[in-house]
Amino acid sequence: MKSIAIVRIAVCLLVLLVAATCLGNPDSLNPADTVAVDTAVMTADTTVAAATTGDLQYPMDPERQAQLVAYSRFNNIWRFVSFFVGLLIPFLILVTGLSAKLRTWASKIKIKFFAVWAFLILFLLVDYILSMPLSIYRSFIVEQQYGFMNQTFIEWLTEDMMNLGILMVIGIIPMFFLYKLINYMTRWWLAFTLGAIPFLIVMMIVIPIYISPLFNDFGPLQDKALETEILALAESAGIHDADIFEVNASKQSAKLNAYVTGMFGSKRIVLYDTLIRNFTTNEIKFVMAHEMGHYVMNHIWWGLGIALVFMMLALFLMDKMIHRVIKKFQKRFGFIHLGDMASLPLILIFVSVISFVFQPITNSASRYMEVQSDTYGMEHAGITGEEAAIAFDKLAVYNLSDPDPHPLVEFWFYSHPALTKRMAFVRAWEKE
Ligand SMILES: [Zn+2]
Repeated sequence: MKSIAIVRIAVCLLVLLVAATCLGNPDSLNPADTVAVDTAVMTADTTVAAATTGDLQYPMDPERQAQLVAYSRFNNIWRFVSFFVGLLIPFLILVTGLSAKLRTWASKIKIKFFAVWAFLILFLLVDYILSMPLSIYRSFIVEQQYGFMNQTFIEWLTEDMMNLGILMVIGIIPMFFLYKLINYMTRWWLAFTLGAIPFLIVMMIVIPIYISPLFNDFGPLQDKALETEILALAESAGIHDADIFEVNASKQSAKLNAYVTGMFGSKRIVLYDTLIRNFTTNEIKFVMAHEMGHYVMNHIWWGLGIALVFMMLALFLMDKMIHRVIKKFQKRFGFIHLGDMASLPLILIFVSVISFVFQPITNSASRYMEVQSDTYGMEHAGITGEEAAIAFDKLAVYNLSDPDPHPLVEFWFYSHPALTKRMAFVRAWEKE
């Protein structure tokens, strides 16, 4: 899922460097990554032929069901582990005085811009190395254990390092402006948020066209009959300029997905080859109609707007608290004001904690848009509620997604409603 990962990483730069929420998160029908088994979801509709061309069976066999439970439990724990590790690493870099040391080394470069850049590269490198064992475990070993990984370790590592390299190159822009504004303005949080608007818009245009293709091939749909159906669907939905792409996501992972990305002329709907292989034409039509819903309802813009509002709020709150912390621990940290770039790990800690608190709100907004798109999908795909429900069920089965998570887990972490809810919704929609 590197094409996804890179979009996320690049657009979430501001999360790393400052942002409150992860925006531009490519949409998916798949509510990410938890699992808890609910036998009621096992609709096992025998009138639907089991997928034969993919790697997995539908309906689910008992072995896969056991895996779903295990993957679910693992992911629930992992949410917390990764949150605390995400705090621990910058915390260590901060309290050991390493951040101050990196700043001193980087400051040997006389041109300010390059000094900031050198610091960012050193910081990212240290952070990458420290988080590597867990990163290998979660993103390679676990994915391999559950049968998703389609890459060798070297292939995986190469792409992971490419991500890091891209982050090092692009990250200097927000990082440089952040510290410039902190040093010159009181309301730097407002100025930074306003400045982030053009930056993010440019990123969202650049990423699908120039960065995602470094990892995957994007082309027209291979299945011409399917393409005709989808173009007809787009026409009937009033989209005359839809760019629809098939991506060879199977290069990295067996998981299936689809998303809308880009802005203006670069706006595109992307279908995973894994989804095409495992879904029937009607199921794909539903997925496409759902994505077209995001497209015509401008959810990318809404997502961007919401993210910016919460980013500004997070920066504002951080500014209210962080100076006191710096004052109290300045000896240990090795810097005396926020405008010192050695404060980067402290900023990251604040932003992570504040974002974690905001997450239920931003995720609720996201879930609301997902319901809108599911409604749009039902209105335009021309399929039955039962077919749509099976599409959701398949997502749970193939991706080992939790169809029925604990309500609190859903409330806090899910950008999409739980699959059982979405299944009930499409079935009820038809009866209206
Ligand atoms: Zn969606």
